[in-house]
Amino acid sequence: MTGQSPVEIDTSRPHPARMYDWYLGGKDNYPVDEAMGRQMLALDPRVPVMARVNRAFMHRATRWLVGRGIRQFLDVGTGIPTEPNLHQVAQRITPGARVVYCDNDPIVLAHAAALLRGTDEGATEYLQADVRDPDSILEGARKVLDLTEPVALSLIALLHFVPDEDGAHDLVGRLLAALPSGSHLVVTHATADFTPEESKAATEKLKAAGVTLALRSREEFTRFFDGLELVEPGVQVPHRWHPELGEPVEGQDDGVIPGYGAVGRKP
Ligand code: SAH
Repeated sequence: MTGQSPVEIDTSRPHPARMYDWYLGGKDNYPVDEAMGRQMLALDPRVPVMARVNRAFMHRATRWLVGRGIRQFLDVGTGIPTEPNLHQVAQRITPGARVVYCDNDPIVLAHAAALLRGTDEGATEYLQADVRDPDSILEGARKVLDLTEPVALSLIALLHFVPDEDGAHDLVGRLLAALPSGSHLVVTHATADFTPEESKAATEKLKAAGVTLALRSREEFTRFFDGLELVEPGVQVPHRWHPELGEPVEGQDDGVIPGYGAVGRKP
C-alpha cells in the first residue's frame, strides 16, 4: 500500500464510507454513522436497496468490461471492502486482471488488506488518495498499471461527494486524459431528479453533519462522459444497465433508485 499515514478514525461525525457500509449490513461503522443512516432511512426507507443496486451495477459493469478485453482497473472511491470486491469479480473471469483501488477515508485504509488478496497472476494495490488530487492517483496507479494499455476508470457512487466548486468534471477529465484510447469510464451517481423533496432534506441533514452531497441532474451526469462514446444502453437508472449480467436485487424497481449509471469508451 502506498500513501499510508497513521490511521485515525474520526468517530465524532458520520462518514460516507461507513454509512454505506451500514446500509449494506457491514460491521465497519460507528454509532454516529448508524444514527445518520437511520435519519436517511426515515426520509427514504429504500436507501439500503439503493446501496445494493449500486454494488450490483459495479459487478455487472466489471463483467461487461472484462468481456470487452479490459484487464486493468482503476477504482476511485472504493469504499470499505464488501465481497465480492471489484478485483474478485474481474479475476474470477480473468485471473491476470490488475486492479488499483483508491479512497481518501482512513477507515478504508484500515481494512484495505481485504482488497489485496487477489490471484497470483494478477495484481491489486491500494492507494490512500483523494480524487481531488488526480496527479497523485495517477502516479500511484502507474506503479501497477500500464497506462499505455486500456484502463477502466470507475468512480462509483463517488462523484456526488465532490461538488462543482472542487471541479468534479475537470477532475474526471484529468484522470481520463492520462488513459489511452479504448479506456472506459464507469460512473454511478445519485440524483434529485426523481425525488426532489427527499433529496433536499437529505442534502441538508448531511450538510449539517459535515458531509457534502452534490446531487446532479441527468444532464450534469451525462457531461462526465463528454468526449467519450456512451456504450449501450447509455445513461440508465443503474439496475437497467445490462441486467442480464447479474441477478436482480430484491426490492429494486424504477421507482426506488434515484441515481444514474453509465459506461463510456474513450475513442
Ligand atoms: N465505490 C463503492 C463505495 C461508494 S461510497 C461502491 O460503490 O460500492 C463512496 C466512497 O467514496 C467512500 O468510500 C468515500 O470514502 C469515498 N470518497 C468520498 N470522497 C472522496 C474523495 N474526495 N476522494 C476519494 N474518495 C472519496
